[in-house]
Amino acid sequence: MKFETVRSIFRPALLAGIALGTFAMPSAVSSHGIMGHMHVTGWAIENLPPGELRDMFNDPEVMNAAIFGSAYTDSGYWPKGSVESQARAYGEHTHWEPFIQDFVTWIRVNDPPPWTSLESKKRFAFMLGCASHGLQDEIFDSIFLDQVDYHDNGNQDIADPATDGFLAIDGHLRFMPTEYYPKDTVLELYQTLNMGISEETVRYGLDAMETLYVNPRTGYAVAAGFGRQHGAKLGWTRAHYFDADVPGSIRSEILPTMRYMIALWERVQGQNSADNPVLFQYPDDGRFLRSLDPADPASWVTIVTAAAAKADFVMPDWKLDDGTPIAFTKRGTHWGGTDQFARVMQLRPLEQLPAGRASTVTWNFNGPLINGEVSTASVVLPVQTTCSEGSGACPIGCEARTGITSPEEVGTALGRPASCLPAEEGSGSGSGAEGAATENKKGDGGGCQTSRPASAWGLLWFAAALLGLRSVRSARRDEDAATKG
Ligand SMILES: [Zn+2]
Repeated sequence: MKFETVRSIFRPALLAGIALGTFAMPSAVSSHGIMGHMHVTGWAIENLPPGELRDMFNDPEVMNAAIFGSAYTDSGYWPKGSVESQARAYGEHTHWEPFIQDFVTWIRVNDPPPWTSLESKKRFAFMLGCASHGLQDEIFDSIFLDQVDYHDNGNQDIADPATDGFLAIDGHLRFMPTEYYPKDTVLELYQTLNMGISEETVRYGLDAMETLYVNPRTGYAVAAGFGRQHGAKLGWTRAHYFDADVPGSIRSEILPTMRYMIALWERVQGQNSADNPVLFQYPDDGRFLRSLDPADPASWVTIVTAAAAKADFVMPDWKLDDGTPIAFTKRGTHWGGTDQFARVMQLRPLEQLPAGRASTVTWNFNGPLINGEVSTASVVLPVQTTCSEGSGACPIGCEARTGITSPEEVGTALGRPASCLPAEEGSGSGSGAEGAATENKKGDGGGCQTSRPASAWGLLWFAAALLGLRSVRSARRDEDAATKG
């Protein structure tokens, strides 16, 4: 019905947008790139502790559902033209905890675990993918982008595609999901938006995203093109986007994402989140605040919660080891509605911090969580300040920037087949994008391919041609479905 009209307007508009160069990568408005989301989500799953949740992902279809969910979340940002506002609305909503909590409630009411059907497991995995994506956006936006601004004077518009590009150039990319989403459930949940979100609305988003970016033919190469395009402007970002010591970096998101998955697994089973509301703190135990300067975002302390909480009802207290209080301001992100439920909360010091000192933050919860529980927990977490170079009196030792002794969070999961390692191992990272003439990647069939450098926009041109083909294909599919129905 209306769909046909919309489709005929949208596709020429999108193609024209690409042709005129006015088409914007949607990641420019939606935090870090989709390749980053798919991979942090995949690595988080691979690092889940042994048990029922981890075992569920041994089924490749369940794994695929989670990875695709982590891409799907940004699909609504792709369409331009007459469906733009509707598509944007479902995409935006899918990111944040009000949607995730609705999804948790839906599962508890309609399809509670234990699950025997593959569809039930895939639906849950898809929700974990969406939830992981949203959390990663909150972390990246709240911590990492401020550092990009501080060090590189860069902003989200270039940092988002660039970090996807660096992942491609550095040979980290290996997940590429095929489309899956639990259509009936998500469309039912979108009814709360009162925007008339239909299957067709979602179809526009997915067609554009999959044709232009999330596909095994051109996706990694398009990403690499963005890395080459922006790398020279982002020296610090290039060196630290994957540095586990840097709060909010792509790699630093893996552990909190993994713990959030466990928290959601517990939430769908009706387990308590209120007693242990803090999943993770930056800097992680064993790492240090990387800066003593309150103007530097590396001096901030940030937590991730098990279920979104209202920052107004969390009263932190930050003290040095001798009891001296540290003055700070508190920030809670408040995406996903006007009720100010946040998964990420942050303390920013108001004064220069002393070097090489132990301190503690006590996070006093006294209010509601988004799942209806009330938390009154007090969580005490250590924060160690870094040494100042050359201070000469640093009890923790200036070499020990990272005191992490537990197994590194990615371990073998990040390992690539030997044949995928760049020829000049170690020469690329941190040295800018100039020498990065080739990127190495693992293709669909499991082998490694080295592709020639290509401009991202050139590849998008190519993809635009494919979009036309796909349009014909999906029209046929619709006809088939209509005939069968
Ligand atoms: Zn996003």
